[in-house]
Amino acid sequence: MPRTFLSRFACSVVSFLCAASCHAAWVIVDAGHTPAHPGATGASGRVEHLYNLDLSKAVTDDLQKAGERVTRTGADDREIALAERPNAEPKADFFISIHHDSIQQAWIDAGRRREFKGYAIFVSELNPHYGQSLACAKAIGERLLAAGETPSLYHATPIKGENRPLIDKRLGIHRFDDLVVLKTARMPAVLVEAGVIANPDEERRLADPATIAKLANAISQGVVDCHP
Ligand SMILES: [Zn+2]
Repeated sequence: MPRTFLSRFACSVVSFLCAASCHAAWVIVDAGHTPAHPGATGASGRVEHLYNLDLSKAVTDDLQKAGERVTRTGADDREIALAERPNAEPKADFFISIHHDSIQQAWIDAGRRREFKGYAIFVSELNPHYGQSLACAKAIGERLLAAGETPSLYHATPIKGENRPLIDKRLGIHRFDDLVVLKTARMPAVLVEAGVIANPDEERRLADPATIAKLANAISQGVVDCHP
């Protein structure tokens, strides 16, 4: 009898607390690109997809430790269409795609690799939850800044192939309406370029397990912060 009473009591306490704050989100963590189409190439020749796999695994681990439910996409070596990624779990609460950046070939040819570093965050106004996407982008940007990271900002350069509207310069958030993974997602969605692997100094830093852990912690904390 006491045990039944106690467990009922415990359950009602838990459900009272959870009504206020225990909604675990269901997050799709996408590792950008695939082995067959690996994205950008780092200064060392190591391809972007491998960096995306490492960071998205660390983000997944951190989110799961925080009690979130996670589905990974792009992480099992299969080809997967862009529109399939956010729709792998249509009922998920949030979609985040993890990438690493290159720079314009003309800048590489001009020997400017070392001028570019930092992260960039993208949202699409064509996503049906643009406001919530932007709120999450801001939360992730705040966490990355607090972790000592800096926004790269060069995607706003007014040239063909860049020219992305910079909607928050301090936090490094751009609008990129036609990004397929963002505009086809039914849930709020954000794409993060974690750093610039075309820069050899940045690439070395981004491959360091300590950097991966720091970035993953900041990104996952941002996702937790922006729960609806
Ligand atoms: Zn990419």
